[in-house]
Amino acid sequence: MQAIILLGAPGAGKGTIAEGIKAATDFIHVSTGDMLRAAVKAGRPVGLEAKSYMEKGELVPDGVIMKIVTARIEEGSPTDRYMFDGFPRTTEQARLLDEVLVAHNGKLLYVFLLDVARDILVDRLAGRRVCKNCGAVYHIRNIPPKVAGVCDACGGPLYQRADDSETTVLNRLDVFQKQTRTLIDYYRKKGVLKHVDAGKPKEETQAEIVAMLQKPALRK
Ligand code: ADP
Ligand code: AMP
Repeated sequence: MQAIILLGAPGAGKGTIAEGIKAATDFIHVSTGDMLRAAVKAGRPVGLEAKSYMEKGELVPDGVIMKIVTARIEEGSPTDRYMFDGFPRTTEQARLLDEVLVAHNGKLLYVFLLDVARDILVDRLAGRRVCKNCGAVYHIRNIPPKVAGVCDACGGPLYQRADDSETTVLNRLDVFQKQTRTLIDYYRKKGVLKHVDAGKPKEETQAEIVAMLQKPALRK
C-alpha cells in the first residue's frame, strides 16, 4: 500500500486536482467529504453522526472519520495506492493514519500542500457547483459547464453545497487555520511535504504533481 495526501484549505482545488491525477495515474481517490456526503444521503449511521457537524462547517469527530477510512482500506488490496483528499484534518487523524500505514506495511510518499490565497478560496467556494448525479465539480466562472446548471459529463443537475453558504464558508476557513494547518509542521518534520502553487489553472498544478508521481523510484 502506498499513499499520498492532498492537503489544503476548503476550496484549494483538492477534489478537482484529484480527478486529473486519477486519470493520469493508478492512485485511488479517497475523499472523506464525498464519503460522508454519500453516507448522509443514504441515511447510514455514520451519516447521522456526521450531519450536524458538516452543516456547521465543523470537523466530524476523529473516531467517525477513522472508521470510514479504515473500512475503505480493508476493502482494498495490499498493492493499492491511495490519494487522500480532505483527510487527515487533525494531528490525531494523522497519527492514526501512521498506525494504519504501519499495520498494512504501507508508505506515505508525499503530502502535497496546495497553496491558495484566502480571497481566491472564498471566491472558489462561493462559485462551486456540483453534479447531483455524478459529483463532478464546476465553478460558475472559472470552470463553467457548457450549459449553465447542467453537468457536461452526465447531464445531471448542478447544485450548490449547503456548506458553501457565506457564513459556513468563513467558519470552515477558520477551522482549517485552527485545526488543520498544524499538519503542515507534522509532515514537514517527516520530510514528505511538497509545496504546490494551486492558484494557477488546474492543468498546471495537476501536471506538476503527476510528474513527481511518475518517478519509477516510487514504485518500491
Ligand atoms: P476542495 O476539494 O479543495 O474543497 P474543489 O476541487 O471542490 O476544492 O474546488 C473548489 C472550487 O474551485 C470549485 O468550484 C472548482 O471548480 C474551482 N477550482 C478548482 N481548481 C481551480 C483552479 N485551478 N482554478 C480555478 N478554479 C478552480
Ligand atoms: P470537504 O468535502 O472535504 O470540504 O468536507 C466537507 C465536510 O465534511 C467538512 O467541513 C467536515 O465537516 C467533514 N469532513 C470531511 N473530511 C473530514 C475529516 N478528515 N475530518 C473531519 N471532518 C471531515
